[in-house]
Amino acid sequence: MAQTNSSPPSDFIRGIIEEHLRNNRFQGRVATRFPPEPNGYLHIGHAKSVCLNFGIAAQYGGPCNLRMDDTDPSGESLEYVESIINDVRWLGFDWGDRLFYASDYFEQLYQFAVQLIKTGKAYACSLSADEIREQRGTLTEPGKESPYRNRAIEENLDLFARMRAGEFEDGAHVLRAKIDMASPNITMRDPVLYRIKRATHYRTGRQWCIYPMYDFAHCLSDSIEKITHSICTLEFENNRPLYDWILDQLNVDCHPQQIEFARLNLSYTILSKRRLIELVSKGNVTGWDDPRMPTIAGMRRRGYTPEAIRNFCARIGVAKNENLVDVSLLEHCVREDLNERVPRVMGVLRPLRVVIDNYPEEQVEEFECPNHPQNPGMGSRRVPFSRILYIEQEDFLENPPKKFYRLAPGREVRLRYGYFIKCASVVKDPNTGEVAEVHCTYDPKTRSGFAPDGRKVDATIHWVSANHSVPAEGRLYDRFFKFADPAGEGDDFTKYLNPRSLETLTSCRVESSLTGAAPGSRYQFERLGYFCVDPVDSFPKRLVFNRIVPLRDSWAKVSEKEKK
Ligand code: ATP
Ligand code: MG
Repeated sequence: MAQTNSSPPSDFIRGIIEEHLRNNRFQGRVATRFPPEPNGYLHIGHAKSVCLNFGIAAQYGGPCNLRMDDTDPSGESLEYVESIINDVRWLGFDWGDRLFYASDYFEQLYQFAVQLIKTGKAYACSLSADEIREQRGTLTEPGKESPYRNRAIEENLDLFARMRAGEFEDGAHVLRAKIDMASPNITMRDPVLYRIKRATHYRTGRQWCIYPMYDFAHCLSDSIEKITHSICTLEFENNRPLYDWILDQLNVDCHPQQIEFARLNLSYTILSKRRLIELVSKGNVTGWDDPRMPTIAGMRRRGYTPEAIRNFCARIGVAKNENLVDVSLLEHCVREDLNERVPRVMGVLRPLRVVIDNYPEEQVEEFECPNHPQNPGMGSRRVPFSRILYIEQEDFLENPPKKFYRLAPGREVRLRYGYFIKCASVVKDPNTGEVAEVHCTYDPKTRSGFAPDGRKVDATIHWVSANHSVPAEGRLYDRFFKFADPAGEGDDFTKYLNPRSLETLTSCRVESSLTGAAPGSRYQFERLGYFCVDPVDSFPKRLVFNRIVPLRDSWAKVSEKEKK
């Protein structure tokens, strides 16, 4: 028996559920489901629904089913089923032995339809799809009744059986509910329940040539599984009367409550399966798991953690009105989680050679560097130091402007965990005139990071030893789209893709402790951000690091602005 908490419900859905627990609407039961259609990979919007459904079930001690809503054969596949199973599990949820397929209910659904026909609540209609659409009416005008509306029950039963038997061409007849062509709710104007469609279903093959429509299949699948709260997105609000009508006509034991909430919209990206499919098929991205994609697979490959995604979903909450959530909140949640748990290392994305002229040629020292400055429990590692180093190109300027405090001719800086170095001269590439090498001197008395004479430096920069570091590729990601709301930019949304969403750097150098780093492992590259060893393209001899998220947090600024 589910218990109501003493604290107030955290959202309106939980409020409704607690009301039902108080008035015993479902005998104290709470059962939910997550019902994806396996016609694409899950995205962060689905994660919101996953967290909501599994979260509610866990909170009230009931089950949450994972149900493939696979009643439309076009576009559905086993690849998608497997990806969904994998993604929901990775997000951290468990459906036990309750993985279901709506396609397993095809026979039951057919029998329910027969029952509707027998009670005069459904009829075979022989209008074409276009005619049905034309006669549906508008928001201000009622629809027209079909000339086939009053067919005899026997004739309807016969036609429906023959539809199933494959006697008719696609589109020759449909089965429609007999409700009310004058209903102010267009959904209720004799909606189509079944259509003839010759297509191979990835599970049932050619066994069926008629397939139920969403509105018919969904409520009955919920009822068959004894779901109590059927949570869906707002666009189904107008379908709720139909959901209820079908279950009422069929007198089923379990009549779930449909509850709608606002779908997640995220800035600078799109969360529509249809459009994501287009990006994959047109080759705008490398696949469903391209780290720029808002898919769970893409985020996992990029290095996001399930904890961060769950935390994000908890923070955005659920509401009744649509809004656009700032992607920087998601990044903030990722950063917050990674900050706690991932080790620090040094890597240089765009190397600039530094020669320490007064450091002995063959000498190598090892500096003991903590893996996490705030968490000594994470231990330390030894990082080799030698005469030739790489630093970040942007940490040196030959002619520094006023507020540039890093390395410049005559300027002294601290090397992270190491000595002070001072720039003596530069060597330029004779062809390009660019700085090719910086010559410095070091002060041996500053190994602790401080000068015994108390002199200060204004900057600390990261570095790697040239001979000890290992080469790597770095993949830096920027906003996926150029505009915050590309979904609202009309149909040719691909032209709003950010051409700089991926920057590939092929001559990065990372410290030797990363030799052979395991695919999927995460690190903070000091000063640069959080990185993940790409699980697909990285090999021990050819390391590839995805930047999960840079260190700078723009969310703080955004939320500050919003407060004003
Ligand atoms: P899309 O509009 O991207 O094609 P969909 O609704 O067709 O998504 P389904 O597989 O039917 O995809 O979705 C499974 C569940 O996830 C549904 O209950 C749906 O309401 C929910 N869902 C889909 N997109 C979002 C979103 N952006 N925010 C919250 N929930 C979502
Ligand atoms: Mg859907």
